[in-house]
Amino acid sequence: MAFFTGYEIAAAGKTTFKDEFVTAGGVDTAEVDVAGMKSRLHADLFFAGEILNVDGITGGFNFQHAWTSGFVAASAIASARL
Ligand SMILES: Cc1cc2nc3c(=O)[nH]c(=O)nc-3n(C[C@H](O)[C@H](O)[C@H](O)COP(=O)(O)OP(=O)(O)OC[C@H]3O[C@@H](n4cnc5c(N)ncnc54)[C@H](O)[C@@H]3O)c2cc1C
Repeated sequence: MAFFTGYEIAAAGKTTFKDEFVTAGGVDTAEVDVAGMKSRLHADLFFAGEILNVDGITGGFNFQHAWTSGFVAASAIASARL
């Protein structure tokens, strides 16, 4: 944990591509209960990250979505004790 909180990075602008990179499209969010990232169509099926139809401009929004939805899905799976 100390590595993540104490690690310092010097940033200087964008890198090689200087553009956004994310997959647009994927599983329709209307088919997912975001409270646990669980499918409304199939039992015991969970989604997280870029497989969902969620995308944002480069800058961390896609990473944040991947991490947050992954945490929510993992928490729901652990609670469900599948
Ligand atoms: C070049 C580039 C730059 C980017 N820059 C940014 C940025 O600056 N900011 C931002 O917010 N987003 C950025 N993104 C987007 C961001 O990286 C993705 O939205 C995010 O990583 C998606 O996370 P994910 O966990 O859903 O998928 P991924 O990170 O793609 O993880 C999926 C994982 O599943 C594994 N996998 C695939 N198939 C199988 C299988 N059959 N069995 C087991 N494992 C499998 C893959 O190997 C991979 O490790 C960038 C993307 C690219 C390509």
